[in-house]
Formats: sequence, C-alpha cells, structure tokens
Amino acid sequence: MTEWHSNIRQDTKRVMVGNVPVGAGSPVVVQSMTNTDTADASATVAQVYELWQAGSQLVRITVNSVEAAAQVANIRRQLDALGCDVPLIGDFHFNGHKLLAQFPDCAQALAKYRINPGNVGKGSKRDEQFAAMIEIAIKYNKPVRIGVNWGSLDQAKMARMMDENAQRAVPLSAEALMREALIQSALESASQAEALGLPGDYIIISCKVSNVQDLVTVYRDLAARSQYPLHLGLTEAGMGSKGIVASTAALAVLLQEGIGDTIRVSLTPEPGESRTTEVVVAQEILQTMGIRSFTPLVTACPGCGRTTSTYFQELAQKIQRYLREQMPVWRSAYPGVENMSVAVMGCVVNGPGESKLANIGISLPGTGEVPVAPVFVDGAKTVTLKGDAIAEEFQAIVEDYVRTNYADGGKLRSTPKTIPIQKVA
Ligand code: SF4
Repeated sequence: MTEWHSNIRQDTKRVMVGNVPVGAGSPVVVQSMTNTDTADASATVAQVYELWQAGSQLVRITVNSVEAAAQVANIRRQLDALGCDVPLIGDFHFNGHKLLAQFPDCAQALAKYRINPGNVGKGSKRDEQFAAMIEIAIKYNKPVRIGVNWGSLDQAKMARMMDENAQRAVPLSAEALMREALIQSALESASQAEALGLPGDYIIISCKVSNVQDLVTVYRDLAARSQYPLHLGLTEAGMGSKGIVASTAALAVLLQEGIGDTIRVSLTPEPGESRTTEVVVAQEILQTMGIRSFTPLVTACPGCGRTTSTYFQELAQKIQRYLREQMPVWRSAYPGVENMSVAVMGCVVNGPGESKLANIGISLPGTGEVPVAPVFVDGAKTVTLKGDAIAEEFQAIVEDYVRTNYADGGKLRSTPKTIPIQKVA
C-alpha cells in the first residue's frame, strides 16, 4: 500500500559485507550489536541468533581480549550449524592488530573489521598498528569500517587542529572544530587505508556523535566530501522513548536526504528488555518513512472517548506481536508479506474508512455501539465478527489472507497504491 521512497545516494561505492551489499543505492541495511561477553560463546551465539531472527542483517560483536578472539570462529561455526548466515563484524580497539594476527581463524570468520582511528594506538604506534590491521584486512579480503566516535577522537590530532584554529583570523567554534576533526579523522584514515592497498570499495565510514544537530551536520558534510558508503547512527542515544526519539529525529533527516547506507539504533536496553528492540526501531524508522519494508505494520487509532474499553488496544498489540513473530518463517515462505497492512480501529466513526485502505482491517465497536466488528479485506467488507472470539477469528482471517496472497510472491509485484489524504481520527 506504500509508495516506496527511493532517493538513496547512488553515487557511493558498493561494499560487500559477507553477502550483504552496502552502498551504491543498495537497500539501507539494518545492523545491530551484541552486549554479551564475546568470550561467552553460548550467550553470544544466542543473542546473535535472536538479533538475526528479528531481521538484523549484520551483527557486530566486541573483540576486545584474547578470550573473545579465541571464540569468534567457534561462534561462527555454531551460527552456521543453526542455519544463521548473518555476517559478523568484529569491533576492535587498541589491541586489534595483535588479536587479528594471533587468531587467524578469527580474522577469517569475521566479515568486516570495525576500526576506530582514535583507539588504534597512541603516538608513533598509531600508524603502525592501523597499518597492521589494514594489512590483515587485505590478506583476508575483508572490508573495514573506519568508525570515528566523538568520545574517542584522536587527541593528538585534535590538539594540532586547535593550535591551527587559534591562528585563524576567524576561528571555528569549538563545536565546528570537533565536527571537522571527526570528518578529517575518518577521511584521512580511509585515504591511509587505500594507500596501504585496501581498495576504496572495501571501506565504510562512520562519524558518530550523541547530539542530533551535530550528527546531521557531520553526515551532510561527510556525504558531500566522500563516496564511501556511510554507516549512520546516533551514538549513546539513551534509553526508552528518549533514545528512540533522538535516533529517529537524527536518522530521519539524513535518510530523507538519501544519506545513510546502513543504520544502527544504539539504544540502552531497559532492564529485562530484549536487545532486539534496537532492530525493531531501526526497521520501523525505515518502514514508516517508506524506504524499506520488513514486517506488516498495524495501523491503529489512538482511541478517544468513543471507545473507553482497552479491547482494541489489546487487539492491535496482539496482532502486531503475532505478525512480527511470524516473520522469521514468513520472510522466505511468503515473499512480499512485509508490505501487507493491517488496521485495527476503535469505533465506526473513522474505523471503516481506515480499514478499507489496509489489506485487512477491523473496526471494533465503540462505547454504546452495536457489539459487532466489520472486517474489510482489500477494501471490501467480508464478514462481521461478534462474540468473545473476535481476536482469534481476526487472526485466522489474517493467516488465511497471507497464505492465499503471498504463497507465490503474488503481491510482491503488485503496483503500490497511492494513499489519498485522510481524515485524522
Ligand atoms: S477511530 Fe477515531 S473516533 Fe473512533 S475510537 Fe479511534 S480515535 Fe476515536
């Protein structure tokens, strides 16, 4: 039902991360990162699998110690045995050059190395250790991400730039200088990697900051000054609604301008919350913007005084959870099902209109209305549900619709409808 928005930059290089293309107009890739101790192979395999099932196309793991590096090939083998082919990215810092050299099976098992130029080494060792990692990437035919982070910016470089800035007739502000230092650090490190022999289409760039306006400014500048694919994300976005809103605000502006080839939403999970929330949020940013679809989404009205029961909220939640839970199987069994739209509305005032626009919609009875729920399939009323089993019967209608319409990818090639301007409930 959605007209897909497709102004992703076409002029970047294409980098293959395992079997996933990044850049050059490829679909924007969702990635995530584990928070398990990589040395604990079982916990890491379980979390990578869970993130992959949720739809993460790339998963990054910390490789911070000998114990962690020693487990990477084992983690890869266990994932392969589970049928999980998600590419693993190794996140390296000061000792990355040693770990990659000491554990060739780790270097081989990873699909990409993330290198932070600010955390590669200090002083004269910096260039040497950076070069050692790039040489290993060349040896194993692996791409890298030059991932600069404002919290670990190369301090020697920053000090030099501050001295130069002080000599200018009109010095840059401290914020502008920090942004320029991030960009220069990334681009100079990328040039250095190319000079060492790593092809340009083996390099992805990121410059993460935690402030929304800074991120937008940095990435606009970065996109104008380079053709490397960009990994986009607001670092340390935070917890709960703050983290979601801040990430969405920053990423949406840039994605709308075609900037960002792969994204991660860096949420701090609330206690007991699944790590997969960051994948769901990243997917929903892309899907609600009309850039990519991942899971059928439920349209639900906000509710008002016309519907005082929580029944329709519970039904909307139940159906959305059900649709998401089916996706690991449906993704391959029913191609195109991710574009299906479902509406759950709270009364007959706006309910039927919205329901008709969805592939499947239900309009529940509002307060004081006759206790019946008309169901609409592709715009036509098909049945009216009543009684205590409305939720189960509606779910069965959704299942039947999926089997009938997507088994052969039938809806995959259908022409998207343009949605007319609607009344707001
Ligand atoms: S459809 Fe609109 S009017 Fe009816 S319950 Fe929902 S918000 Fe209220």
